[in-house]
Amino acid sequence: MDCPVCKNAGLTREKLEQDLIAYACAQCGGRMIVANDYSHWLEKQQGTLPEKPFSDISLEIHDVEKAKFCPECSRLMVKYKVGHGLDFKIDRCGGCGGVWLDANEWEAMKDRNLHDEINSVFTAPWQAGVRQEQNSQTLDVLYSKKFGDQDYTKIKEIRSWLDAHPKRQAILHFLSDDSPYKA
Ligand SMILES: [Zn+2]
Ligand SMILES: [Zn+2]
Repeated sequence: MDCPVCKNAGLTREKLEQDLIAYACAQCGGRMIVANDYSHWLEKQQGTLPEKPFSDISLEIHDVEKAKFCPECSRLMVKYKVGHGLDFKIDRCGGCGGVWLDANEWEAMKDRNLHDEINSVFTAPWQAGVRQEQNSQTLDVLYSKKFGDQDYTKIKEIRSWLDAHPKRQAILHFLSDDSPYKA
C-alpha cells in the first residue's frame, strides 16, 4: 500500500493500539485503518467510552484537504466532518470501508473518546448533528456582532436563567410590556 497523500511513500504496519494494526506513512504521519481490523478491535472493546470534553493537550493536525484515493482499493475516498468540537475531516473509502486519518487525527479523537465511534461519524444522524453544530456556531458569531460581546454574554446569562425559571412566561410578559405598572 502507498500513501494517498505523499507520492512514492509506502505505508508500514504499525501497532496503533493493543489489538489494532494501522498502516502508517513515515513522511506525513497519516494512517490507513482497514475496515475489518477496526471492526475486530471494536468488538474487543467493552462498549463505547463516554465522550470527554476538551483537554488542554494540543495536537498539531495537518488535515489534508485534497482528495485521496484509497491505498487498498484505489477508489476515491469520501470526506466526513468529525464535529463535536473537532475541526477536521476524516476520509472513508466507500468500496472497502477503509479509513484514512491524517497525522494526529487518531490521537485527537482518542483524547475525546471518539476513536471508538469512527463508524458513527459516517452516518446521516451524526452528519446532521455536525451541520446543526456549525449553524449554531454561525448564529453565535452573528448575535455576538449584533449585540456586542459584552451585552451578548449578559443576554445569554439572562436567557439561561429565564429558561430554567418556573415563571418564565410571566417574566417575559413583564419585560415586553411597555408600562407594566399601569393597571
Ligand atoms: Zn504520507
Ligand atoms: Zn478502499
